[in-house]
Amino acid sequence: MYDIIVIGAGPAGMTAAIYARRASKTVLVLEAVTYGGQIINTPDIENYPVTAHISGFDFSTKVYEQAKDLGAEFVFEKAVEIRDENGVKTVVTPKNAYEAKAVILATGSENRKLGLENEDALVGRGVSYCATCDGNFFRKKTVAVVGGGNTALEDALYLADLCEKVYLIHRRDSFRGEEANAERLKARENVEFVYNSNVTRLIAEKRLKAIEVTNRLDGSVRTIELNGLFIAVGRVPENQNFGSLVKLDESGYVIAGEDCHTNYEGIFVAGDTRTKALRQLVTATADGAMAATEAVKYINNL
Ligand code: NAP
Repeated sequence: MYDIIVIGAGPAGMTAAIYARRASKTVLVLEAVTYGGQIINTPDIENYPVTAHISGFDFSTKVYEQAKDLGAEFVFEKAVEIRDENGVKTVVTPKNAYEAKAVILATGSENRKLGLENEDALVGRGVSYCATCDGNFFRKKTVAVVGGGNTALEDALYLADLCEKVYLIHRRDSFRGEEANAERLKARENVEFVYNSNVTRLIAEKRLKAIEVTNRLDGSVRTIELNGLFIAVGRVPENQNFGSLVKLDESGYVIAGEDCHTNYEGIFVAGDTRTKALRQLVTATADGAMAATEAVKYINNL
């Protein structure tokens, strides 16, 4: 039996593993896909103390190696259920079942979709949720980014370096993302802002070839011909498998305060999947430290 199972190998989960190992606890990190979480797709992190610039991939790899060197075990299997029998938590994956005294949920979040007809079918054929993964396919072509948060602004900046033309489509006329990024974008000659507008139709033959955009203020409809559409309209928490055990808020986030305690004894939560005011790399790693410290206290008091 492990002392702690961490579910999710993003910055929150891997930091929790580091803190738990430094407290001499045995740790298993379960991850469905690969280490790194959402930040692995960020081309350039500029707001994490210590270094002015680092790619999300390099950052994630360093944290992964740090956790492994300290003795955290990583298994790449998706946790689908947590069972509790007399205080022993069993985390079930499609292949195995692992036991622990405490569990830290650090499952992060997944891409929010626009909900348009054929959106899923056109992924890989012109529709993408990751500019750093797919941007290169659209070199010297025309693309649009949808959204007004930091991801959309950073994606548009990244694509503006590669593509002939970038439309930035936002449903309001002011951005949720950082002003500095919005100002940088405004200085780019190949970026056109389409404010107060929603993408209302994807027009495709074999691949996406145009989008229909509707202005929310006057209802006018415009067709934009393009090669790629990058959807960056936020994320939704990935808690579906654990919602019957821990309490979620109306948006699906696990309810917990800064101490990272869920309502369920021995289950803690860290990172983007927790109810919180600011979802950033630095707050995710802070949560990882807190959740692990609280889990260690819990185990020591058993
Ligand atoms: P976000 O901040 O939640 O922004 C989502 C954007 O999409 C908002 O502008 C929202 O519009 C728009 N939106 C939501 N649903 C929509 C829909 N159905 N149709 C059209 N537009 C829709 O998401 P995010 O940009 O992915 O960022 C998530 C978190 O990660 C944020 O806290 C962000 O600061 C952080 N982040 C940080 C960095 C960094 O620090 N380098 C990089 C990326 C992300 P409204 O504004 O009208 O609601």
